[in-house]
Amino acid sequence: MALRCSCRWPWSAWPRTRPSFARNTPSLCQQFSTQEINPQICVVGSGPAGFYTAQHVLKHHAKAHVDIYERQPVPFGLVRFGVAPDHPEVKTARSPRCAFRGNVAVGSDVTVAELREAYHAVVLSYGAEDHQTLGVQGEQLPGVLSARAFVGWYNGLPENQALAPDLSCDTAVILGQGNVALDVARILLTPIEHLEKTDITEAALEALRQSQVKTVWIVGRRGPLQVAFTIKELREMIQLPGTRPLLDPADFLGLQDRIKEVPRPRKRLTELLLQTATGQPGADHRARAPRAWGLRFFRSPQQVLPSPDGQRAAGVRLAVTRLEGTGEAARAVPTGDVEDLPCGLVLSSLGYRSRPIDPSVPFDPKLGIIPNTEGRVVDAPGLYCSGWVKRGPTGVIATTMTDSFLTGQTLLQDLKAGLLPSGPRPGYAAIQALLGSRGVRPVSFSDWEKLDAEEVSRGQSVGKPREKLVDPQEMLRLLGH
Ligand code: FAD
Ligand code: NAP
Repeated sequence: MALRCSCRWPWSAWPRTRPSFARNTPSLCQQFSTQEINPQICVVGSGPAGFYTAQHVLKHHAKAHVDIYERQPVPFGLVRFGVAPDHPEVKTARSPRCAFRGNVAVGSDVTVAELREAYHAVVLSYGAEDHQTLGVQGEQLPGVLSARAFVGWYNGLPENQALAPDLSCDTAVILGQGNVALDVARILLTPIEHLEKTDITEAALEALRQSQVKTVWIVGRRGPLQVAFTIKELREMIQLPGTRPLLDPADFLGLQDRIKEVPRPRKRLTELLLQTATGQPGADHRARAPRAWGLRFFRSPQQVLPSPDGQRAAGVRLAVTRLEGTGEAARAVPTGDVEDLPCGLVLSSLGYRSRPIDPSVPFDPKLGIIPNTEGRVVDAPGLYCSGWVKRGPTGVIATTMTDSFLTGQTLLQDLKAGLLPSGPRPGYAAIQALLGSRGVRPVSFSDWEKLDAEEVSRGQSVGKPREKLVDPQEMLRLLGH
């Protein structure tokens, strides 16, 4: 079946060296063309890891067919539901040997064991669908949200559409100093007329129009030399119109001498922080900016403080910390002092976390990953993993690409070495029958193209690149499912 699987990536950091889906490397393809193998490969998850693993397999094996299963009716994972709406870019790749099977939740609609039975190999690339909890008293109070849910909300992730964040407060506190924290801070503070030109959902736009949030504190348990965000994202914050930075020069004392020793990217980042912290605010026209963002260092969340009636969050109690050790490996230890930071909204941005997919698949609950050796799932021949579920929830798209190519390479090595089943496998034909008997209606790539066209057309009428469909039922109705 000549299905066309094309991926459009609304992505700012798409690596430049990306081979086309359609072309093959002759030398490597030849290695397989002598063998009568027509491998059926299954990939679970259609984020960067899933697509890049598929891309590698298709490029290096002329006869491989890849089916990409995805729980959402729409493809692309965090490229659609994670990347900030003000970071768009579109790229396309195509292959007739790759098919998208959306609206299929692996682990509930179909088991991993069933997929392993139907395919020569199964690659788990299902990302990290949970978040790292704070683990402190008051975390459950209204007014405390995970950054993950907030990001999902403004990006149209169906499960987060009922979030209804209360933005009627003056001050928000974000716990954690990674790039997700900066994304969230930026979305909270960006002038609405800028957001109106992005594909942020209409509901989020309306809530942000009414927002009273003027100050956003981004809190880290360690110091300026250990922030997890990167320079490009910091620069975007510094240049954000209508805002001013709030940095305490005391946090940067003595840093000038120490930055000589740190690696170059960290050095440049720290120099920018220093420059921003020690700038003359009086001379800066932004001193009068109506909104502000600040970095608080050496503060670890200890408790979410309730309002007097106990009904919602009114602040965060932070344990003051000091560092033990130096550089990236330095550990934050509490000094015994605490500080209360009043706020009406707490966003915990301590990182994402993968979940186990199916009891038959090994899972390391401590590390939150599938235990693997170079992408081979331990004690499970024919089962592989790539992306965040393989190595943990860190790394930009380029890191995920490299990691996914490596898993693709491992899989092909095993295929060549005869470690995968040698006889024919039914692939999608078997799974289609199972899904049909369970009342599951998969969404194909051409279905997605219809939804894509609908989103673009709805966006055009309001001057946005697209207006995302956020209700899976509406998507299926539009497809006549
Ligand atoms: P994901 O992108 O999460 O893809 C996993 C896919 O699996 C999803 O589509 C999910 O729906 C699907 N899935 C999950 N469970 C199942 C199941 N049971 N059955 C079927 N399918 C399932 N990197 C950059 O380079 N630039 C950026 O601007 C950038 N912005 C980011 C913003 C945020 C908020 C976050 C969190 C990350 C950002 N990153 C960015 C990092 C980048 O998103 C990751 O490196 C990348 O998405 C990880 O890819 P993945 O495929 O492992 O996971
Ligand atoms: P992250 O980069 O791992 O940052 C997590 C932050 O939470 C760190 O500051 C960490 O501090 C802190 N933290 C973790 N556990 C904590 C605890 N128990 N108490 C206090 N603080 C704690 O995670 P992320 O921001 O979710 O980003 C995930 C990945 O996506 C990153 O690789 C990021 O670069 C990428 N991303 C990229 C972009 C972009 O390119 N524009 C945008 C968004 C995300 P410690 O360092 O002290 O642990």
